[in-house]
Amino acid sequence: MSALPPAREPSGRQSKQPSGKLVYLGLGSNLGDRYANLRSAVEQLTAPDLRLLRLSGLYETEPIGLRDQAWFLNQVAEFETDLMPLQLLRRAQKVERALGRRRTVRNGPRTLDVDILLFGSAVVDCDDLTVPHPRYHERRFVLAPLAELNPALRDPRTHQSVTQLLQAVRGQAVRRVQE
Ligand code: AMP
Repeated sequence: MSALPPAREPSGRQSKQPSGKLVYLGLGSNLGDRYANLRSAVEQLTAPDLRLLRLSGLYETEPIGLRDQAWFLNQVAEFETDLMPLQLLRRAQKVERALGRRRTVRNGPRTLDVDILLFGSAVVDCDDLTVPHPRYHERRFVLAPLAELNPALRDPRTHQSVTQLLQAVRGQAVRRVQE
């Protein structure tokens, strides 16, 4: 009896499976040229082991916490990665530093903030890292761009979809802006 050929799609092409984890990064800037900062952040983050898939639109958002500062420009980026969660955090922090971020006032102005919102379906709780991001579910400036990219995505802790989380947020001014 002859061996069966490997399973193929009807077209004859082998089906393409993503090789890494799907991760969503929240980017924000409210100092200097905010558009250039976000563009540069995406360029610097992108690497062979952190592959950019899609970018949301840009959202201008009212600062939370310390109100007496410029409005933020926010965006969510979808990547596929072979990195482990803590390696991704270090990579993100390196890019924050490269863009001149100084950690001074909590929730204060910054050239770049990178948050790991979701890392596949992983739940991480360690000293330096909590995933899903501990506050993403209450922030319209994160959920609106995230819903643009993947509204059906579910939070691995609560199993609520991004659409459901967004519907539950009250207040907070966000405005989608032209690039
Ligand atoms: P922030 O000043 O808001 O950028 O907070 C940065 C701190 O939050 C860093 O010291 C990180 O170790 C920690 N952190 C915990 N969870 C996350 C996450 N999901 N994404 C980014 N930073 C995180």
